[in-house]
Order: sequence, then C-alpha cells, then structure tokens
Amino acid sequence: MARVETPAARARRFAKETHLGLVRRARKIDRVLADTYPDAHCELDFQNPFQLLIATVLSAQTTDVRVNMTTPALFAKYPTPEDLAAANPEDVEQILKSLGFFRAKTKSVMGLSVALRDEFGGEVPPSMDKLVTLPGVGRKTANVVLGNAFGVPGITVDTHFGRLVRRFGWTQETDPVKVEHEVGELIPRKDWTMLSHRLIWHGRRMCHSRRPACGVCPLADLCPSYGEGPIDAEEARKLVKDGPPN
Ligand code: SF4
Repeated sequence: MARVETPAARARRFAKETHLGLVRRARKIDRVLADTYPDAHCELDFQNPFQLLIATVLSAQTTDVRVNMTTPALFAKYPTPEDLAAANPEDVEQILKSLGFFRAKTKSVMGLSVALRDEFGGEVPPSMDKLVTLPGVGRKTANVVLGNAFGVPGITVDTHFGRLVRRFGWTQETDPVKVEHEVGELIPRKDWTMLSHRLIWHGRRMCHSRRPACGVCPLADLCPSYGEGPIDAEEARKLVKDGPPN
C-alpha cells in the first residue's frame, strides 16, 4: 500500500527544493495541465487582432462568455477602428449595455480606436512597446493580443494566473510584471502563451480562489498548497466547474 505523505513531510519536501528542482517541477506542472486541458485556448472569440484587442478590454469585470455574446453585434456594425472611432457613443453604449460599466467601456474602446486610427494607420501594432502606449492597454492585455493574434509568446498575468503561480510556489511576488519575469525564468519562452491558457483554465475550473478542489486535482503531488481546499474526493468533485464561469 502506498505510504501517505504527512503534511509536515510534504512541507519539508518543498522547503528543501533547489532551483533546478523548481524548474523541473514547474515544467512538469505545465505538462500535466497540457494533458488535463488539451483544448485550452483563449476563451474570447475574435477574427483579427483588432477584435481581440477590443474583446480583451471589454472583458474587464465580466465574463468571457458575456463578451462573446456582445461582440458579434459590435463588430458587425463597426468592423474597423475607423468605424468605431467615428461611432455615435450612444449607439455603442446600447450594444455594450449588458456588460456593466458600459459607459466607461464605450469610452475605452472608442478612445482606443481613435488612437489606432490616428497613430497606427488603423492597424493593431504587433509589439509590446507600442501596444502599451494605447489608452487602457496594459501588459496583460498586450500579452493576450501578442500571444493569440500575432503568435508572439506572452505570459498573461490575470487574477487566476497570479493566484496559481503563488500556490505552486513559483514566485512570492504580487506585482504582475515581477510575476511575469519570474515565471518566464522557469518555463521556455515558446510555451508562455499556452502556459497562460492552461493556468487560467485550471484556475477557472478547479483551483478556485476560495475552496480549490484539491482532492481531485491532477497537480496534488506537485503543489505545495495541496490541502488549501477540501482533500476529500467527493467533496472536491462538487467544486469542479466544467465550463468557463468567469
Ligand atoms: S492541489 Fe489544490 S491548491 Fe494546488 S493546484 Fe490543485 S487545486 Fe490548486
């Protein structure tokens, strides 16, 4: 019969981990998540970089599902930055109404479109330096766009990603830029975009901020935070969400 590791023995195992051990464990976690979520991908619908940029900005404080229900009407009426920049704000507000904060979001996407039209010839620039000059675009949004619309590897540090990498003991940092750099040291650059999707999927489905489903988690043996949520399989199973809730 397999010996059960006590919490104290487990804590000792992670406490004496070397940097090389940490790198190996981080890559193993990524492999296990790749097997667990072979379909992980950006959950926002888009057909071009402009659409992804707008959808990412709209996704603040709401769900990707809700954004996906809203953007087809928006892009049908305003397919280009020029169209959206010249829109009547009240018409845009009407389309974005179900998203919450729709007045602020209307201002954001229209301001963004004006900047794209006036400073970038109506094209989304494929570089971090330029993307972050756009109003309302930070590194997180820029990395989503670079990774998913341009194929440039990027680490997207959203709330799920930050929580999970701290639970994994990959970093203690809370500043997203520092998190991005520390995680970037552990995982090969080519894997950054998919790593981001996998962690976000795991955070949405199993490793919740409150009550993670530790008892059925495929990372149980690799995670120093195992036990933060219920370890009883029955109880943990009830916490697993199939779809993208947030
Ligand atoms: S063992 Fe628990 S805390 Fe660790 S990744 Fe799994 S669900 Fe999250």
